[in-house]
Amino acid sequence: MIRVYIAIGSNLCNPANKARKAIEALKQLPDTKFSDCSSLYRSKPMGLFDQPDYVNAVAAFDTLLEPLVLLNQIQRIELEFGRKHTMERWGPRTLDLDILLFGDLKLNSELLTVPHSGIKVREFVLYPLAEIAPDLYLPDGSAIIDLVAVTDRRGLTTIE
Ligand code: ATP
Ligand code: MG
Ligand code: MG
Repeated sequence: MIRVYIAIGSNLCNPANKARKAIEALKQLPDTKFSDCSSLYRSKPMGLFDQPDYVNAVAAFDTLLEPLVLLNQIQRIELEFGRKHTMERWGPRTLDLDILLFGDLKLNSELLTVPHSGIKVREFVLYPLAEIAPDLYLPDGSAIIDLVAVTDRRGLTTIE
């Protein structure tokens, strides 16, 4: 089994509810065992500011799936949650599921980049990740707690 971390993000149509339901959907992934999930967080949008705040979380799983099969599976869940793939990147969306880490794999292909390209700089990914995996190191050797220490929260708060 390979440990994977998946980032969940939503900012449309009751995003907290969407995030919770997305986590339940991820728990049904084939050949994949749920391990842990962070709190839900509320974050400020990135890039396009004229859109609602986001709800974010990070969940950990152990999987037997190949990386591209996992990507396919999470894209299927995005579509089931009503995501339109015509939506502009970083624009508002009902559900975004990103593979943050796939074990120690480093991959940079057309379809999939792991670790996720934003992992080291996005507060809405680093803080929830550090909540469930405070001792984690990225494949390049950087410690998650060191990355958190130099990353502004930009108003990131936990949701009860
Ligand atoms: P960002 O990737 O910067 O968070 P985004 O999540 O809004 O932006 P999407 O529109 O969800 O971007 O995805 C665009 C494409 O990114 C997907 O079709 C997928 O092939 C590719 N991709 C590359 N690496 C990953 C990854 N680690 N997790 C999910 N998708 C990825
Ligand atoms: Mg994303
Ligand atoms: Mg995405």
